[in-house]
Amino acid sequence: MGRVTASLDDLPLRDDLRGLTPYGAPQAPLPIALNVNENTHPIPDEVASDILDEIAVAIRDVNRYPDREFTTLREAFATYLGHGLEAEGIWAGNGSNEVLQHILQAFGGPGRTAFGFAPTYSMYPLIAQGTGARWVAGTRQPDYTITPEEAAAQVRDVDPDVVLLCSPNNPTGTPLGLDVVEAVYEAARGIVVVDEAYQEFAPREAPSALSLLDGRPRLAVSRTMSKAFAFAGARVGYLAADPAFIDALRLVRLPYHLSALTQAAAVAALRNADVMLGMVDEIVEQRDRITATLEALGYTPHESWSNFVLFGGVADPKATWQKLYDQGVLIRDVGIPGHLRVTAGTEAETTAFLDALASIDSAS
Ligand code: PMP
Repeated sequence: MGRVTASLDDLPLRDDLRGLTPYGAPQAPLPIALNVNENTHPIPDEVASDILDEIAVAIRDVNRYPDREFTTLREAFATYLGHGLEAEGIWAGNGSNEVLQHILQAFGGPGRTAFGFAPTYSMYPLIAQGTGARWVAGTRQPDYTITPEEAAAQVRDVDPDVVLLCSPNNPTGTPLGLDVVEAVYEAARGIVVVDEAYQEFAPREAPSALSLLDGRPRLAVSRTMSKAFAFAGARVGYLAADPAFIDALRLVRLPYHLSALTQAAAVAALRNADVMLGMVDEIVEQRDRITATLEALGYTPHESWSNFVLFGGVADPKATWQKLYDQGVLIRDVGIPGHLRVTAGTEAETTAFLDALASIDSAS
């Protein structure tokens, strides 16, 4: 007799979670994995050694709980971000997903509304709904841009408790002007979060929403070490905001949520920020090469300020995705009709993707 197992329907699950599907980007062991916008360059050897030394010290104290306020790490993030920020205006979590969850636990929750301009990061609705908040999707122009006037009008109309602005936007790569952030902040009664997970891949001269924080206590800017820092497996995300905003997040975080080993690894990685970020220029080069080659192949890539490219003109996205998969190349079908999304990899990985796609010839 096999073990008797239940289905979700047999459990007293919250009604508002029934029918939802968990985040589920495929994790297939293919040679060329360009599907979840990771940095595909391994971290440099000298930085890996420095991180291991720091972890070796921290492991001696793991019988004790870690610094609950992760002060050294917050100081390191403040230094990295600049803009006159100090440690008390910094927060961090196990990935920026957890940081966003803290925000939605503190400012969302039952009876409240979270809002973003679709298509946008697929975890926003899930994180919002996980806290019991309602997710409302706004709209963009056909080219995925948003104007300040339109953005403000939609926010005024919905009157959300939390607005999530993804800059540059995932899955489209679209830049977001600071004028949109300012207009949304003015129009909003609630919290405004600018998710700058991919900011390091934007042009150097592009200003960050960090420059808008002063005097705007309802604004927060989140970042991650998962992308530019090649640290996705370590799970470190962070945020800058008014110190009062950080106090609100302290109410909902679990005590000691950032392990001593995570703190040690992140502090050592930030000490080596220049080396860690050394691959950003090369990734941007590969991204631009993807765009140019896709155009030449007859597809319609969208402007991207991130480490990935969304492209249209795909006659049958499922079929093209499968043919690439069969050639050992994993990219992402994000559910936008006629489109697929690919992450910029190393030069060799990018070449493998472009060659495989060219061999398929499926532009519509
Ligand atoms: N925000 C955006 C826009 C993302 O694309 C991602 C990861 N795909 C995240 C946040 C979360 O990243 P992490 O939890 O690894 O920091």
